[in-house]
Amino acid sequence: MPYDQYETVIGLEVHVQLATQSKAFCGDATAFGAPPNTHISPLSMGHPGTLPRLNQKQVEYAIKLGLALGSKINMVNAFDRKNYFYADLPKGYQITQDRKPICIGGQLKITTESGEKAIRIHHIHMEEDAGKSIHETSGPYSQIDLNRAGVPLLEVVSEPDLRSAEEVDAFMSGMRQLVRYLGVSDGNMEQGSLRCDVNVSVRPKGQQAFGERCEIKNLNSMRYARRAIRYEVKRQIDWIESGGEVRQQTLNFDPETGRTSPLRDKEDAHDYRYFPEPDLPPLVISADDLRRYHQELPALPWQLRERLAEEYDLPAYDVNLLTEEQEAALFYLELVQHTELYKAAANLMINKVLPHCNEASISLSAFPVGADQLARLLALIETGKVSNTAAYQQLFPAMLNAPDKKPLELAQSLNLIQTSDAGALESIIDQVIADNPEETTRYQKGKKNLIGFFMGEVMKASRGKADPKLTNQLLREKLAK
Ligand code: ADP
Ligand code: MG
Repeated sequence: MPYDQYETVIGLEVHVQLATQSKAFCGDATAFGAPPNTHISPLSMGHPGTLPRLNQKQVEYAIKLGLALGSKINMVNAFDRKNYFYADLPKGYQITQDRKPICIGGQLKITTESGEKAIRIHHIHMEEDAGKSIHETSGPYSQIDLNRAGVPLLEVVSEPDLRSAEEVDAFMSGMRQLVRYLGVSDGNMEQGSLRCDVNVSVRPKGQQAFGERCEIKNLNSMRYARRAIRYEVKRQIDWIESGGEVRQQTLNFDPETGRTSPLRDKEDAHDYRYFPEPDLPPLVISADDLRRYHQELPALPWQLRERLAEEYDLPAYDVNLLTEEQEAALFYLELVQHTELYKAAANLMINKVLPHCNEASISLSAFPVGADQLARLLALIETGKVSNTAAYQQLFPAMLNAPDKKPLELAQSLNLIQTSDAGALESIIDQVIADNPEETTRYQKGKKNLIGFFMGEVMKASRGKADPKLTNQLLREKLAK
């Protein structure tokens, strides 16, 4: 089959669960992992006579995400009812935004192996989650947990600008990073805080018109999304090549079989009968609030990436690692307030500080050693007082145990200060050469790799404190005579 003669076209509907304390339209808690049906007031249960009240935090978070993505904010927007019957939706409808969503347009730039590309955003709207149905029960019944019913979501709808599973991956990672930077969501895919519906179609390369698309529902891990996309693309091409026509459908992905399959027709035949939500007035955003949200935006991932690359001249690898989490980037920026050894500071963070936090399962804010002390450590290495190896392997761990002690004092007490005093070193080297006349002659006759032997002897004689660079240089000079 000529798979390479087709192009994949993908558009995403990303659901972001917001990190608010309470639900979208009532005061019930949103906390994940509570025992089933413990965060359910009559509002979450959809009792008649209850009235929704909008959570301002949801509005704030929607606007902040929109501003970060360069969307236009709809200063007057409105809620609608999306009606359908399902056991985990006791109200019989979801409150969403159909006609007038809060944000329009915008873009998220992604980077893949083939470079940078902007993925356009169609719109962002606010909505509420439904409850959760649990089908894996021991008896002939399902269970319903309404803790999630009414939890605030943003749905970010992309234009069909994505062309591969790799691009989807990059888009989702970028979205996860952004919502975490903004503090609007924890972006945790396993816990369902970030999920996506993937719309997939294929078209012959060079063709303008899009092919008919299928929508794969509720993928809650990137691994599943990649597998689902690859399977679905192949399925559509095979079908077209065998003379079939792709029909617009809603699909489910089964991680067990790795296949997509149509949801039952009834579930697919949606007629949501949207109508304006009568219990909520149109939402009017004030210019003051908009300005305030704008001012409150943190430095965004791409802004920090640019800063680290340009101001501190770091290579792309370091930049990406240090900006993955906002906390790390801010830690780095704090560290370089205390030192001009920008690259060494990045190395120290990447090789020691971040791995330590990872292993100890602590956040960077709980890292015991201050930026000033870390800067002093870097200076000790730079001036040759402590070798890089000794600093990383011995001094750094010692600093973790005694965060308030000056690295120089610790290095002294651990006997790590290198003899870089050229005079003292020279006499050691002279002694080593005098003690090894045979090796000296062989070296001078051309056996240049004996330099390793001499280095070893000098190290031994100096008890490991000789500065390797200087030793090497002096040895070569003296042996050449
Ligand atoms: P609706 O779900 O209301 O029909 P749209 O048709 O606007 O909404 O699109 C929903 C999602 O499907 C968007 O993410 C959009 O980018 C994507 N999409 C639309 N057409 C295609 C297509 N031919 N191939 C792949 N994705 C598409
Ligand atoms: Mg849709």
